[in-house]
Amino acid sequence: MSYLSLLKKEKNMEYDTLINNGLLISMAQGLPVVEDGAVLIKDGVIKACGKANEFFGVNVKNRIHADRKIIMPGLINCHTHLPMSMFRGLADDLPLDVWLNDHIFPAEAKHVNPESVEKWSRHSCIEMLLSGTTTCCDGYFHEERVAKAVMESGIRAVTGQGVIDFPAPGVADPKENVREAIGFVKRFKDASPRLSPSIFCHSPYTCSKETLIKAKKAAVDLGVLFQIHVAETRNEINLVQGLGKLSVIKYLDSIGILDEKTLLVHSVWIDDSDIDVIKKSRASVVHCPESNMKLASGIAPVPKLIEKGVPVGLGTDGCASNNDHDLFAEMDTAAKLHKVALLDPCVMDARTTLKMATIKGAKAIGLDHITGSIEKGKSADIVLVDMDKPHVTPMYDPFSTLVYSSKASDVSLVMVDGKVLVQEGKIL
Ligand SMILES: [Zn+2]
Repeated sequence: MSYLSLLKKEKNMEYDTLINNGLLISMAQGLPVVEDGAVLIKDGVIKACGKANEFFGVNVKNRIHADRKIIMPGLINCHTHLPMSMFRGLADDLPLDVWLNDHIFPAEAKHVNPESVEKWSRHSCIEMLLSGTTTCCDGYFHEERVAKAVMESGIRAVTGQGVIDFPAPGVADPKENVREAIGFVKRFKDASPRLSPSIFCHSPYTCSKETLIKAKKAAVDLGVLFQIHVAETRNEINLVQGLGKLSVIKYLDSIGILDEKTLLVHSVWIDDSDIDVIKKSRASVVHCPESNMKLASGIAPVPKLIEKGVPVGLGTDGCASNNDHDLFAEMDTAAKLHKVALLDPCVMDARTTLKMATIKGAKAIGLDHITGSIEKGKSADIVLVDMDKPHVTPMYDPFSTLVYSSKASDVSLVMVDGKVLVQEGKIL
């Protein structure tokens, strides 16, 4: 709705914020680009967006001038383990099983406690906000402390309490793992409009069939997202108990895990028939290219998944396997990785890649009715990206600029729910 038609309805309304005179990339249907664009906000919600001259004379408390800046929706990081920034650079250049069993699991046993989880989650929230991410989807242990850090930082998040069939931080008895996750979801379901609690089963090789079924049933009963690492490495098929002749995806489907509220993280080692199963189940996938590259796990068939209509979001994974939360770098990597893998420079074009980091990511984690694009009625989760720098000049196509040229450090302003959290590149 343009401001002109809004004005007739709400004549003397005082609005909170007008973002004015920027290049508006809304990521709404059809991906319209508005030069000299503006976004009008009240009570954390986008009331209208369009050409800046339509908003002339609007009664507004706060004006944000976006000259020489792109106005875009905040980025969505669909897979994180926020506290793991404490292990950034701890063990690199190792195979996944050695990295996990000899380094990460022992370090977690030693250093992960409620205080460290909260401290490093807060640290990760700051890193994400500074680099233009306004929503993340997390899974870890002591998740109540992650949720606390999320609520205090101002970022939006899906937070999943981890479920694994061996003693884990905060869950000494694995028999209690699903009960703990249920308790977490119940405690945080109405804690904040920016927080969506969830259940996160670590993987089909660290959770038994019984655990998976029990955890998924709980997620369905509670109406929350169910997250799981799936088909990350080629060897995973040898680690899952009771697989028989099934692929990992078909095994999960056979025990009722896949539906539209299931988020399949990685999905690297899947074939065409697995993609059909995912599509039919309406589950979503998260692509974590840098983590998959760093651990040499493989390359997920993302162009095929997208072609089939599976919602695919983009994730960084934890900082121990990336080693950052920078979605601008992740977009650049994703776009180029599939081109070289398929020897086809036309796949994963800039628009497709930016969709994955915004509106499709929001869809994958079930928040596309709230965020992921700049549209009337959605939350004002908005980022301004500086275009007044040599490495983004000239600009022929803003989608190309954002994916291939822009850097996280070009983010100048970040707001979540209409509240400014980063200004002039600094956290407030
Ligand atoms: Zn992960």
